Amino acid sequence: LFITFEGPDGAGKTTQVKAFAERLASMGHEVVLTREPGGTAISDKIRSLILDPAHTEMADSAEVLLYAASRAQHVQEKINPALKSGKFVVCDRFVEASIAYQGYGLEIELEQIKRINQFATGGLIPDRTYLLDLSVADGRERLKARTGLDRIEQKGAAYHERVRQGFLEIAKEHPQRIRVIDASRSVEEMAEEIFADFTRWLTE
Ligand code: C5P
Ligand code: MG
Repeated sequence: LFITFEGPDGAGKTTQVKAFAERLASMGHEVVLTREPGGTAISDKIRSLILDPAHTEMADSAEVLLYAASRAQHVQEKINPALKSGKFVVCDRFVEASIAYQGYGLEIELEQIKRINQFATGGLIPDRTYLLDLSVADGRERLKARTGLDRIEQKGAAYHERVRQGFLEIAKEHPQRIRVIDASRSVEEMAEEIFADFTRWLTE
């Protein structure tokens, strides 16, 4: 099974994804925890290129293709083989991040993003997705605690508002697969809701 976590910066995805994977593993499942952009050596190199704050000159189209290239390698080298051998793959961001950030955020035609990513992933779709939703103001507040924001995090509030609304639109289009989680709550409350939903869904 392929489970993805999505959401705006500062929503606490990384913490949740870890807790979720650990809990799955403690139940005896074989779990591969991974993230995007990244997840393989090639994908991680592309990640540092995309997120380098020095590259303010990066063309939007190049950004789209670099995320897709990073993802293509990740799917072929890591995700598909793990899924084939029956493991649970838990991934911090996937195609829907590109629809939200590059599609809605950069205002690039959504159909283009979808086509490019269809090519990159061979049409791989997650089985279950958790969208951690948080207001842009709250997300910014949490990012303040971090040092050195990446190139995307440094973009303005209007961009991040489009990204948040984009994620919510995507969730509306896939109500069966995507669960929206209110990320303004405590880490424990969110983790409980996610795990309860997942075990319910698994036994359906
Ligand atoms: O999830 P994480 O914060 O590590 O992702 C790195 C950065 O890449 C984030 O700041 C996010 O804003 C950005 N990103 C993006 N488009 C994607 C995936 C991630 O702009 N498709
Ligand atoms: Mg981030």
